[in-house]
Amino acid sequence: MIIDLKHIFVTDNSALPLKYALDLSSIDYMGEYPLKKPVEIVGEITNKASLVRLEADIIFEFDASCDRCGTRTARTHTLKVSKSLATSIEGEDSDTIITVPNMKLDLDELLYTETVTNLPMKHLCDENCKGICYKCGKNLNEGECGCVKKEIDPRLAALAELLDN
Ligand SMILES: [Zn+2]
Ligand SMILES: [Zn+2]
Repeated sequence: MIIDLKHIFVTDNSALPLKYALDLSSIDYMGEYPLKKPVEIVGEITNKASLVRLEADIIFEFDASCDRCGTRTARTHTLKVSKSLATSIEGEDSDTIITVPNMKLDLDELLYTETVTNLPMKHLCDENCKGICYKCGKNLNEGECGCVKKEIDPRLAALAELLDN
């Protein structure tokens, strides 16, 4: 969706509420499609003393396999977006400024970019997920497997498995 912001730019102390959702279910993230539900943006664009700003929350549900045990898990994330909008064509987009040529904002592009660059680095079914046994593959959240294990840093488990074979 393209939003025409001309009215906002020329009117001091004006505001435009934002509420929109975009389907990003085709985004492939390490072989999964974690954004099954539309990604929402809720907030507003305001002009205060000729300074035009966008303040909004982007809300998305990330539905993918747990990094440790592989169980499919959905978690909702909220991104705070706080940007100044500039009509100048000289500047480039940055973390804090979005340029809007012709005072038109491409909301789809904003949603896409912000979401894709802020997908979670870590995705766990639970903060205390015990992962899977590196010997037998049992999901240890469901109980101990009885394998004899040396005390080992879980990050080294994959390496230990290689050495065992
Ligand atoms: Zn897990
Ligand atoms: Zn085991």
